[in-house]
Amino acid sequence: MAETSEFPLVTGHLSLDLVNTEVSRRGTRHNLLATPQDLMRWLDAVERAGGLKRESIPQWFGGGRERVEGEGYGESQGESGPQGHGELGERHGRGGQGHTPEEQAEIVLDVVLQLRGFLRAGFEVIADGGRPDTGWGEELERRVARAPVAYRVSGGVLVPVPVGSAADALASLVALDALQLLASGELTTLRRCANPDCVLLFLAENERRKWCSMRLCGNRAKVARHQARMVKP
Ligand SMILES: [Zn+2]
Repeated sequence: MAETSEFPLVTGHLSLDLVNTEVSRRGTRHNLLATPQDLMRWLDAVERAGGLKRESIPQWFGGGRERVEGEGYGESQGESGPQGHGELGERHGRGGQGHTPEEQAEIVLDVVLQLRGFLRAGFEVIADGGRPDTGWGEELERRVARAPVAYRVSGGVLVPVPVGSAADALASLVALDALQLLASGELTTLRRCANPDCVLLFLAENERRKWCSMRLCGNRAKVARHQARMVKP
């Protein structure tokens, strides 16, 4: 488990940790991915936590993503702007022609947030003991098909590298992770955090685990129980 001060990365899975970028504080939901810069920082945090390889992450807006020329998604050498991030979606009909890098980054964010909402709907059904309808998995398959995954050997491991626009490539990585979880049966241990004011989901490696993380919710509950004992006559 890895947690940054900024993002709860409590599952080690890209798709679940994406859903967990929506948090609740005192009854109000907060979106931790409000801007493309937030998304970029989240991707960096996931990478640092080992949930994603740098080679898998598409190059996109902001200058935060350094890439060897020619490795970019969409092969836009020569036509990208001074920042070198002009390729989002031009060749793929999404977020296409005439968008500034900033607009394209917003499009990437929109696609990711839309996918996050879609994933949450299915994951919550599973966490509550149900099964999402077959259309849920099929839609995830379509997301992967839109930017199919090639592989590269890096540091002795196989790294998936989706081929497509940045938006489609990111969505493909996330959808692939969700499909792997679905196919492996791991989602049978998916749970909602026991803190009623917390909306995080986690995979319970044992029956006793009730909290998304001890640091975020477990300790809080412990302190509350302790205080309740203290005030009893
Ligand atoms: Zn929690």
